[in-house]
Amino acid sequence: TPVIVWLRRDLRLSDQPAIVEAASKGPVIPVYVLDDETPKHRRMGGASRWWLHHSLASLDTALRDKGSRLILRRGKCEEVLADLAKETGAAEVHALHHYEPWWRNAEKAVGKVADLHLHHGNYLAPPGSVLNGSGNPYRIYTPFWRSLNERMPPHEPLECPERFAAPAAWQQSDRLEDWNLLPSKPDWAGGMREMWQPGEEGARQRLEDFVEEAARYEAQRNLPSIEGTSFLSPHLHFGEISPARIWHAVADAGGSVGTFLGELGWRDYAQNVLLILPDYGSRSAKEDFSFLQWRTGKGAEEDLRAWQRGMTGYPIVDAGMRQLWHTGWMHNRVRMIAASFLIKHLLIDWREGEQWFWDTLVDADYGSNAVNWQWSAGSGVDAQMFVRIMAPLSQSEKFDAAAYIREWVPELADLPDGEIHDPAPMVRPKGYPAKIVEHRDGRERALAAWQHVKASG
Ligand code: FAD
Repeated sequence: TPVIVWLRRDLRLSDQPAIVEAASKGPVIPVYVLDDETPKHRRMGGASRWWLHHSLASLDTALRDKGSRLILRRGKCEEVLADLAKETGAAEVHALHHYEPWWRNAEKAVGKVADLHLHHGNYLAPPGSVLNGSGNPYRIYTPFWRSLNERMPPHEPLECPERFAAPAAWQQSDRLEDWNLLPSKPDWAGGMREMWQPGEEGARQRLEDFVEEAARYEAQRNLPSIEGTSFLSPHLHFGEISPARIWHAVADAGGSVGTFLGELGWRDYAQNVLLILPDYGSRSAKEDFSFLQWRTGKGAEEDLRAWQRGMTGYPIVDAGMRQLWHTGWMHNRVRMIAASFLIKHLLIDWREGEQWFWDTLVDADYGSNAVNWQWSAGSGVDAQMFVRIMAPLSQSEKFDAAAYIREWVPELADLPDGEIHDPAPMVRPKGYPAKIVEHRDGRERALAAWQHVKASG
């Protein structure tokens, strides 16, 4: 009897335990279900949908090379999978665990209508399994990572079967083009096409390139002008490569790679937080944030728009926001600066930023995005204090962002290094805006808002 493999954010053939297990039992029917119908199922953002299109196309090609193919269906997961099981006579459904609250709900619903077998494989250790001395999950990253790291190395990656047995007949599949995942007009994806190759082969290539550089990661990772990080985040998000494979490749390369592995640990940590606080993406963990009077109304809306478009008058923030719009990715140091600027200098609710990133990042990940936004805001279970306010201009100098700014804010390209981080009004080119808020004014406004929280709490 055939076995269904229900694919979600695990679009790979290598080190994919659900596929390996299913293939050992019978003909495999791989299916991807696009669920835009279930309430509370967070609809994927625009950049993610672009990525998904290409990742599915790539997976289908890889499956066809092995005598199989990918079935595409739209609708509620439990209904689609129940129908498919009936049509094919499949006895079991195999899938990897996912931790977004809507995926956990879907797993429950599917479990009621099919014989669902869930496997681990998208994280270094199964989320929920790293516990403190009293048997409880960690809320703070550092002890979590210490404990997780003691359990490393992760499993050795599983190889993909050479060929898949095909079912007697292939069931109907939607045409990928009919899902309209790609932008129509205007086509904003040109910069993304240039930068990325979605799919397992693109992920493998990125890893290969990074392994050469891994020893320099620690020294380079905070410098946005240099390509000093792995660029693996969208591949990891869509599960085109497993973190275990990355862990082994990087650890085997030698050198001081602990900092990099610790970043993979942040990714695991985020899913663990979601298990404790499923609504982390939409709700501040610290209660006193309910007293924070975020700015709203016309002025705040205009400022939000200026931030989104990269027109704040702060070159480092603008460079980051334009890099994001153009490529679907932003350097981590700049994400921190841009997030802090929105939350503190503009005093705009972190959830507005979370939403914008959700829509524009190719690596938009419910857990990682929420953990990092709540860290920046100070509202999270592990977070810096709200009153720690990053100074964007000195960050820009400290991390040597001049070349990065020249690339992404071409209006400023002719300014010398001494001027580019904070162009004075006399040298500011026409068309580049004045600062939408002075650093000192923004800082004082944020501190006053925090005073109000303290007085109310
Ligand atoms: P590398 O530095 O090469 O790191 C390797 C991998 O470790 C990454 O691919 C990623 O999977 C993981 N990782 C690294 N840093 C973090 C981190 N701080 N938190 C969680 N995982 C991490 N990352 C996402 O994957 N999705 C998001 O939606 C996301 N939103 C963010 C929002 C804000 C406000 C901030 C400050 C950070 C966010 N990050 C997010 C984390 C981080 O910026 C990206 O993972 C990183 O920039 C991706 O580039 P890279 O693959 O070259 O990273």
